[in-house]
Amino acid sequence: MKSICFALGLSLLLGNSFLRAQETNEPATPSPAAADTEIQKIIQIGTTDNQVQVHLDYLTNRIGARLTGSEGMQAACEWARGRFEEMGLSNCRLEKWGEFPVGFERGPSSGVMLEPKPMKLEFGTNAWTAGTRGRVPGMAVMAPKTMKELESMRESLDGAYVLTPPRRRGRRGRREPPAGNEDGAKLPSIEETRQVREELMKCKIAGIVQSTSDERILTGGRYDISMDDLPTIPVINLLKTQWDEIRDLIEEGEKVELAFDIRNHFRRGPIPLSNVIAEIPGSEFPNEYVVVGGHIDSWDGATGATDNASGCATTLEAARILMAAGIQPKRTIRFMLWSGEEQGLLGSKAWVQQNPKQAQNISAVFVHDGGTNYVSGITCTAAMQPDFEQIFADVMQLDERTPFAISTIDTMRPRGGSDHVPFIAAGIPGFFWNQSGRATYRTTHHTQYDTFETVVPEYQKHSALVIAVGALGTANLDHLLPRDGIQN
Ligand SMILES: [Zn+2]
Repeated sequence: MKSICFALGLSLLLGNSFLRAQETNEPATPSPAAADTEIQKIIQIGTTDNQVQVHLDYLTNRIGARLTGSEGMQAACEWARGRFEEMGLSNCRLEKWGEFPVGFERGPSSGVMLEPKPMKLEFGTNAWTAGTRGRVPGMAVMAPKTMKELESMRESLDGAYVLTPPRRRGRRGRREPPAGNEDGAKLPSIEETRQVREELMKCKIAGIVQSTSDERILTGGRYDISMDDLPTIPVINLLKTQWDEIRDLIEEGEKVELAFDIRNHFRRGPIPLSNVIAEIPGSEFPNEYVVVGGHIDSWDGATGATDNASGCATTLEAARILMAAGIQPKRTIRFMLWSGEEQGLLGSKAWVQQNPKQAQNISAVFVHDGGTNYVSGITCTAAMQPDFEQIFADVMQLDERTPFAISTIDTMRPRGGSDHVPFIAAGIPGFFWNQSGRATYRTTHHTQYDTFETVVPEYQKHSALVIAVGALGTANLDHLLPRDGIQN
């Protein structure tokens, strides 16, 4: 059954050119002219039949958020593996790299101000934090600033939502105690502020309501919690304007009543965690690799569209375009969708640690994780520049609205915030595409706004095409990319 469906799916997907090439046993190594034709095919498919948004739609709108260790992420990994298989790639698999002690699932949540006037509340909660048991009403009170104040208001804390102000960053990034000394009173020490917070979490409060610092509701969270000591008090990040309004009402002496219904759930671990891997086998150097990828996990305050469904979609589409063009690269092109990136590049770090020998056979790692702006260039060492000049020649000025440029650095260092870093740390050329365009990554990633509509379709299409060209060109070099200038 499997092979019939596979062949049928493949011919539908690729048209007949790929299958014909297989039947007639065309030479495995492309001549320069053939290579040129391959690039033209990639460009043609990439510009006239680009399906990058189809992948993005499914990942964000059908699967949704993909927090590491959640059912959403597992579904995304299995779906991506299935897509690679349907495209006809080889060795499509989930490769386990580790476990989390506790799984976290986010359900729907809602919040309102009931008194003194109805208002729908906009808020978020971090991953791996407590929800409510159904809809829980409670009076809103301002947080005590000192232990003495806490003692004097203990009774009013019972079942209350406690408003804590945003923490201010002091000089050298140190956290300062909350503001609020307009009356000239001495601010409580950092130690006392911490003590108050700890004591509050032991009281029978309904929840902590903290203010966001601007219009963005950021989602983060710590995964290293224990099933035996789960958080029990919801910590709510309320939109700053609404937090300010509630504070003003309380300070004016109004009775403010809120109600939250937050369906956060924990799942007993260990939760197995995997990277998704699929390959187009190399014809001459099958044990040497060019890696194309991005992370498939996301924070779960929205659907992780720019961070990083956009990079997964271009990875999938680059694979599809290359297969549809019927290419036969000299080296294996390996597609990798890592997980655990948001918790500290966990999936890529683990892969490099667990595969030290194989890692040394990687020519280059191209990571797409900078949001939805178009791939506009690559930064490499001087030793790599001639290779890249040749590889990207056909896309440099393919479209005057989306030019591509190569820039050089003296030393490639394991710095930056994505999955190329563990590879550079192992001495392997790792690249984070340069990106340009009108999108502002800062206003979407990790926020409530990171949804499908923020992604720019024409940029995505172009990026997928450029990535496909870069992958093939690097795989077809007669050498691995030079390692000179990599400081690991
Ligand atoms: Zn990311």
